[in-house]
Order: sequence, then C-alpha cells, then structure tokens
Amino acid sequence: MPQISYEIIAECPDTRARVGLLHTPHGSIETPVFMPVGTQATVKGLTQRDLAEDIGVPILLANTYHLYLRPGHELIRKLGGLHKFMSWPNAILTDSGGFQVFSLSGLRKIEEEGVLFHSHLNGDAHTFTPQSIVDVQLAYGSDIQMVLDECPEYPVSHEYARQSMLRTVRWAKQANDHFRMRIADSPTRHALFPIVQGSMYPDLRKECARALLDLDTDGYAIGGLSVGEPRPLSLEAVEATEDILPRSKPRYAMGVGMPAELPEYVARGIDMMDCVLPSRNARNGYLFTSEGRVIIKHARYREDEGPVDPNCSCYTCLNYSRAYLRHLFQGKEILYSVLATRHNVQRYLDIMREIRHAIKLGSFLEYLKCARSIAAEAEARAEV
Ligand SMILES: [Zn+2]
Repeated sequence: MPQISYEIIAECPDTRARVGLLHTPHGSIETPVFMPVGTQATVKGLTQRDLAEDIGVPILLANTYHLYLRPGHELIRKLGGLHKFMSWPNAILTDSGGFQVFSLSGLRKIEEEGVLFHSHLNGDAHTFTPQSIVDVQLAYGSDIQMVLDECPEYPVSHEYARQSMLRTVRWAKQANDHFRMRIADSPTRHALFPIVQGSMYPDLRKECARALLDLDTDGYAIGGLSVGEPRPLSLEAVEATEDILPRSKPRYAMGVGMPAELPEYVARGIDMMDCVLPSRNARNGYLFTSEGRVIIKHARYREDEGPVDPNCSCYTCLNYSRAYLRHLFQGKEILYSVLATRHNVQRYLDIMREIRHAIKLGSFLEYLKCARSIAAEAEARAEV
C-alpha cells in the first residue's frame, strides 16, 4: 500500500511539466511546489502563522543533520515529534543530512557502513548509517524522508563519481529495507525517497536512476545539484533521468534554484524544489521581484515611496516602502529581515502558483518563453 500518493491533474503538451496532487498525512499539496527551508525547524524571520496562514506554505523542509546535533532527535520524539515541537500544521520533508555532512563537517570518513563525522558545533564524533538516518527521521515524524546519500563536491572524476553513486544506491536499498520494516506496523503514513546521484555525468545519473527503480518508492529525489557546478549542468543532470524515473511518482530536485530557474526545472518534469535563497538573500538585502532583483541598500531607493514589487500583494508590499526597508536594512534592524523574508518567500510561492496556472491553461510554454526573456532583460539591466 502506498504511503504517500500522487496524482497528475494536468500535463503540458509541449514540455514535461505537470500539475499534480501529493497527498500526505498533513494535507494535499498541489505540485509543482516550492518548499521554504526551515533548517533549524524555523524559517528564519517568519512565524509558523506567517508561513501557514498568510503565505499558504503547504510543506516545509527541515534539516536532519542540524536537528540531530541540536536539540537531538530523541528530545524531539519525546516532545511529540517535529510537527508538535515547532507547531507546524502542514507537511514536513526532511533531508538526509548527507549534504551537510559533506559540506559542513570538516573531518569525515566514508565507509561502507556509513559516514563518520565530527560535529561542526563542538567537534564530537558521530556516525550516520542508512538505517540510523531512517530512525532519526521517524523520530521527527517527517512526512517525507530522504535516504542517506553521498553528495560529492564538484568537480570529481568519473571513476570517483561512479564509486560514490554505487555506494549511494547500496545505502538507498539498505535504508529502504529498514524503513519498510520499521513502518510495517505503524498507523502513520510516511514516505522515503531515494536520491539520484552521479555528479554531472549523464551516464551515471541514468545508471543510478535505473538502479533505484527497483526500490519502488513513493517518489524520487535528484541530489548533488547546487554544489558549485555551472547552472546549465544542473539542468542537464535533471534531464538525464527524466524519462527513466516513473512519471506516476513525484520528483524532487534538491536545493534549487534562482527564481528564473524554477520554470526550467518544472519544464523538465520536476514537481518539488527547495532552496535557502529566498530567505538567505532577503536577509542579505537581495529582494526578488516580478521586474528583477532589487538590491535594497542602493542609494536610489533612499526616497523611493513605492513597494518592493508593485505586482506583489504580500504584507510587506501592501504596507511598506522601499525607502523604509532600506532604512531598516541600513540600521540592521530585525524587522528588516522579517519583512524582506516575508516578501521573498511570497515571491517564490507566487511564481509556483503562476506556473501551475499556466500548465492548467495549456499555456506553460508561452509562460516559459516569457520568463526567459524577462530574466534576460533583468540580467542585461544588472550588468549596465
Ligand atoms: Zn511582496
């Protein structure tokens, strides 16, 4: 019996884009969907009410590695699971921690059984195995879990990428076996997604996707993106597996992307995405708008009475001027981060809403072309 179900409700006749419904224990989610990142069980600067009620976020991503180190999965289990702990009513997806182990932890050793690493907080030694990572995510009560994977840096040799990819496949099988055993008697529905790796080598990506099909999971993730590779390569890596991964299951591109890239991934059959960019860039003074990027510290906004984005109806744009936001930013006021994040997350969700609308209307190809020309114009303006 499937743990999480997915149904396609509209398909683009020209691209691989589709609109679907992903049914989870914490609500049905219309896809393609963007998931804001709540690394430490919080999207920095926003309350859960902002996210769930005002912005309408149906699913959040939380980070297995960070929450494992602090406050610890046993504490979260004791306090009723992640939904209750952080008072979040909608779905939660947790990543496997693989990406953080490989990017944050300076000292690590990969063995067949798993990965040994030292906490970036205090240097303590820990081990993640395919099985332990399933147990940690079950303690959180995540609706959608990820398997432990190795996320190689970019670039790596074909030989290393292949050995690493084969280990990720072996780990995925072990994780899936353990997951099925653990949930056999559980009344709660969860899903475990394996992760396609293979660096930027299309042949390895295809080999990995084929091997993971045997697991017959409820969805598939594509990892190893946004690790420093040129942007076109990330899209090629996704394209490589599009016709191998089953079309009846949701596909999740991990850690992407910039606003202009969102429709590009959707056009390649992606249903789910997450990225720290809307929240992190907001805090750093970069605001995404329907007319391109606004760098709020620029002097040109000093007396600008207009909203961040005249086409946005978020709380920030309805109530505050660019001049006020610039003033808050210059003064390093906490409210700046709150208002800026509020807008940027809304912008990402608005883009996804536009994409779904265009697919349903049968006009996604035109939407994609239009998005490309707006992005090119904004790029040209930024270079002047
Ligand atoms: Zn706004």
